[in-house]
Amino acid sequence: MTRPISRIRGTGGGHAPQKPVETSPAVSDEVKTTTCYMCACRCGIRVHLKDGAVRYIEGNRDHPVNKGVLCAKGSAGIMQQYSPARLTKPLKRVGKRGEATFEEIEWDEALDIATRWLGEVRETDPRRLAFFTGRDQSQALTGWWASQFGTPNHAAHGGFCSVNMAAAGIYTIGGSFWEFGVPDWEHTRHFLLFGVAEDHDSNPMKAGLAQLKARGAKFTSINPVRTGYSAIADEWLGITPGTDGLFILALVHELLRAGKVDVDYLARYTNAPWLVIRDPGGTEDGLFARDSAGRPLCWDRVREAPGDPLAAETAPALKGEVTLPDGRRAVPAFHMMAERYLDPGHGPDAVAARTGIPAATIRRVAAEIAHAAFEQVVELDQPWTDWAGRRHDKTIGRPVAMHAMRGISAHANGFHTCRALHLLQMLLGAIDCPGGFRYKPPFPRPAPPAAKPAGHAGQIGPGRPMAGPPLGFPMAPEDLLVEADGTPRRIDKAFSWEAPLAVHGMMHTVIANAHNADPHEIDTLFLYMANMAWNSAMNTAGTMDMLTARDEASGEYRIPRVIYADAYYSEMVAYADLVLPDTTYLERWDCISLLDRPISDADGPADAIRQPVVAPDRDVRPFQDVLLALGARLGLPGFAREDGGARYPGGYAEYLVEHERKPGVGMLAGWRGANGEAEGQGAPNPGQLDAYIAHGCYWRQELEPGQRYFKHANRDYLDYAVAMGFIDAAEPITLQLYCEPLQRFRLAARGHGAARPPEVHRTRIETYFDPLPFWYAPFDEGEASGFPFHAVTQRPAAMYHSWGSHNAWLRQLHGHNRLYVPAAAAEAEGLADGDWVWITSRHGRVKGRVRLMEGVNERTVWTWNAIGRRAGAGNLDPAAPEARESFLLNHLIEDLLPAREGGHRYANADPVTGQAAWYDLRVRIEKAAPAEAGEAAPAFAPLARPPGLRAPPAMVRQGAKQAPAE
Ligand code: SF4
Repeated sequence: MTRPISRIRGTGGGHAPQKPVETSPAVSDEVKTTTCYMCACRCGIRVHLKDGAVRYIEGNRDHPVNKGVLCAKGSAGIMQQYSPARLTKPLKRVGKRGEATFEEIEWDEALDIATRWLGEVRETDPRRLAFFTGRDQSQALTGWWASQFGTPNHAAHGGFCSVNMAAAGIYTIGGSFWEFGVPDWEHTRHFLLFGVAEDHDSNPMKAGLAQLKARGAKFTSINPVRTGYSAIADEWLGITPGTDGLFILALVHELLRAGKVDVDYLARYTNAPWLVIRDPGGTEDGLFARDSAGRPLCWDRVREAPGDPLAAETAPALKGEVTLPDGRRAVPAFHMMAERYLDPGHGPDAVAARTGIPAATIRRVAAEIAHAAFEQVVELDQPWTDWAGRRHDKTIGRPVAMHAMRGISAHANGFHTCRALHLLQMLLGAIDCPGGFRYKPPFPRPAPPAAKPAGHAGQIGPGRPMAGPPLGFPMAPEDLLVEADGTPRRIDKAFSWEAPLAVHGMMHTVIANAHNADPHEIDTLFLYMANMAWNSAMNTAGTMDMLTARDEASGEYRIPRVIYADAYYSEMVAYADLVLPDTTYLERWDCISLLDRPISDADGPADAIRQPVVAPDRDVRPFQDVLLALGARLGLPGFAREDGGARYPGGYAEYLVEHERKPGVGMLAGWRGANGEAEGQGAPNPGQLDAYIAHGCYWRQELEPGQRYFKHANRDYLDYAVAMGFIDAAEPITLQLYCEPLQRFRLAARGHGAARPPEVHRTRIETYFDPLPFWYAPFDEGEASGFPFHAVTQRPAAMYHSWGSHNAWLRQLHGHNRLYVPAAAAEAEGLADGDWVWITSRHGRVKGRVRLMEGVNERTVWTWNAIGRRAGAGNLDPAAPEARESFLLNHLIEDLLPAREGGHRYANADPVTGQAAWYDLRVRIEKAAPAEAGEAAPAFAPLARPPGLRAPPAMVRQGAKQAPAE
């Protein structure tokens, strides 16, 4: 807008007219919408382009995720686009692995090499391909590709991220936090946030907290460290790491003791009334009593007979042991639960010292959430109808909402802790009600969904696809992927007796297992966007050694071939034999699909795309296009036509539109049908991507008001979910307070059934497959003598793992890290701000500088995650503060637990799901000698700069393009 300066000043009389001032200069000659990818939150953005280059990024105000909000990372996307760390051309290793000595090759040669390697594997034993991806957002494609290739050895990063949170949610409530659920920011009265500093759900979380604050609702943060969101919490509880389960179960104890539980909700929507057989030593002990059709039974307290818990006329009992007509004894699941948690061992006095939270505080918090749930009930003037046809005139809710993520998840006891949190929500009746946790469509789904992991002996063979997806939800020992002797079939040992419910796989174990040929050898390790030679690995130095280790007899690498795809020069690039350079997120098509992890909110399903807003100025290709091309060259049925041609010659954009997972269901739900008239299900629409672009690159559908709450039991919603293809049948989804699948594994450990664990695993399965949540000490505790501090990492708001540590703007915010130490502990150790210290675990030691702080648990030290880089990585100056002043805590974390009886070593992970137990780390700190100050340790040989990358300029400036490499 141009305004005369005289009018701006409000004067003008007597002065000569002056030149108008441009107060809103046009910064761009074109604006394109797409989806941010500077973290996993997937906000909508508007990218301003000037002369074909990215000039400015702003939030899309119409977008359902961020409503215009953009964070520091999102706006710094411009510096990601013009980062000096961008790879520029396919690379073939010419020196030793790990030296980063490459030559540039053309794409044809790169694809020929990959096709030859992968083709040999597929035609002999497809399991010899391990295909794992990091924090990419195309798992609906990559999982499909793996199953078409025929390998079960596939997963994404979830196993080392927060699979405990996801698995506990999916097995318990048929949904989960973040992508599958959200706090009801509009109505909650008390919000409890567990183990979250800066979340995956970043901008929505900030907006939600602002909404809470404006309404005066209470916000309690439970976190060892008071950073990020905790800084604005009304109450911060600096819990000791790994004890969240104790705290949560103490709240459960208090609520049960006070009778502050929603018995109607429990009886109607959960399996609390389902009868559990009591037959110690018997084959059915701990399983649900079922009728002849396999339906679970409850006890009808009016008829005094077994009943159908889902029938409207049944009056289910929640307590009391009963004798079934066939003579078996049984009790409601609620009865068992109450017996357990009313035990004084779960009371506040018993857990206060260990959690670091005073007993009186625990009692008060329990009373406060009970008050909010039962005295501040939310009543919406909105009728709805339940599955049995009962009409409810109002929608009534218990306004206590919770959210949690990696802080409670990344422990060896994380699965049960996360289940305990869902149990607490159920007791309060606070799931999918006004003020509570709310599902995001396409969730809820049956808990768990029916899909099982494929990879059994008969499902795999040379030259053919695998009969099913590589990931799924085991319900019983028969679903495990194990050999006849019980040893694992997958390279990561997911879905074996070592981690039966590893529903996101165990990427963190792949390199060590492949190196050890345990359980089998592999030929090719194919990784995408996963910095496994640095911040995505435990035992980081050991992992680098394993990637370069050779077989003594043959002299060949123990992991024979490594293919790696990445857009940037991460540490992992140096360990690849073949590098496939990816584009940036602003240069490619992408999709955020309902088949994967969509962008829905509680009031409606939504998905989104990325469109290329600029053309690559380097010889790089979108990884998704490369995967499609490889699939076609390999003749994979989903990717090649019968005549041998590519099924999607137009690349990923064509795949997004044309591919159908089942008739009418594709990657995108909006504008389906020949003319774009259908939503959810419908024929492919050639104009679909244009329709998305015209609509800001997203699609969203609004639920009817009567469909929005109690989705697990809401007839109108369930009918809608079937019509949209979200679920198969419009049947109520019962919340699983008692998790029967766990008991099936436990019975196997007790010697029942055909599929039983090998002797070495029996005690472990018996112990940890408890159908009710329980707390146990993290496994490292036993080895913790001499290591008095818990050590954890947090992700800052302005940096997403190592993604941003080559970004010129974000580096200015977080160019180095410090070890934050409780001030009192530092004083006791004689440490002052800025001192150099050695940080030692049972596995190794690193050196860094300390900073003292008050807002941290007295037994905990912490640092920012992945600020420390290997010298030369990210095309940073080897003397950059990320390399010289910064440290990586990963070096201290062992990938295996100490040997147990019999010598077996388990992964450093949760025994139920295989989730990497990053946060179980214990350390001691000692002041470094004066001569040792000044440089972080360990220091690895600087990585050489690969061909195609130029020495970074002294200053990376906005708008200044990198000159092409010489
Ligand atoms: S939170 Fe920030 S970085 Fe993440 S998607 Fe949104 S704008 Fe991008």
